[in-house]
Amino acid sequence: MSITVKNISKFYGSQKALDNVSFQINPGEICGFLGPNGAGKSTMMKILCCFIPPSSGEAGICGFDITEQSIDVRRKIGYLPENNPLYLDMYVREYLGFIAGIHKIKIKADQRISEMIALTGLSIEQNKKIGALSKGYRQRVGLAQVLLHDPEVLILDEPTSGLDPNQLIEIRNLILTIGKEKTVMLSTHIMQEVEAICDRTIIINKGKIVADDKTKNLIQGHNKLEEVFQNLTI
Ligand code: ADP
Ligand code: MG
Repeated sequence: MSITVKNISKFYGSQKALDNVSFQINPGEICGFLGPNGAGKSTMMKILCCFIPPSSGEAGICGFDITEQSIDVRRKIGYLPENNPLYLDMYVREYLGFIAGIHKIKIKADQRISEMIALTGLSIEQNKKIGALSKGYRQRVGLAQVLLHDPEVLILDEPTSGLDPNQLIEIRNLILTIGKEKTVMLSTHIMQEVEAICDRTIIINKGKIVADDKTKNLIQGHNKLEEVFQNLTI
């Protein structure tokens, strides 16, 4: 199993952000993590990437425990946080070199960076400052960054938010291409996004998993997330 989550709860002070969440994601899946703002998506993803600890429960990535084996977990994961924070004053290639250094990629680092620049369609922009790039190209830098150390699992927190319609299609296609070789967990509050990219979707609302099924079974011609909620039996 690529991602295993068992009875995870998370409190921020007295507020419960995650309530006894359990699910599994199989190797090779592109799984959507769909829910309205404040549902707990980012919290769950931060826990899986060892950024914050759960209040209770267990989770594993490729068989490694997030609490006991967090370094192994980080090696297995490529995490693109919400809003894709980047160093805007760095040049694209310089930034990817910096990230390669953090991952201690020493052998053929330049070659690996070139491959990721080509894969993510950054070739013509590779010598620009990140601050000079459009939002769509910044997302490509984010995706190149998460792929550098060749992780098995990608955790992408709202990777298409704020993109214009053309950029949206391009980044979705890129995620589909990348997803052929990786396990992908992708969060979004947009139903059409899971319809476009994800075979399977887990729906979270107010910290609880309310559905987990093939995307086509969940969506069934609905246009709005509220309609899907009304149709749920669990
Ligand atoms: P989502 O990503 O689905 O929009 P989040 O995981 O960011 O949801 O947030 C879930 C809930 O936890 C929200 O009510 C949010 O206000 C709260 N929350 C998130 N991060 C913190 C924090 N660092 N401190 C306090 N409350 C938080
Ligand atoms: Mg979020």
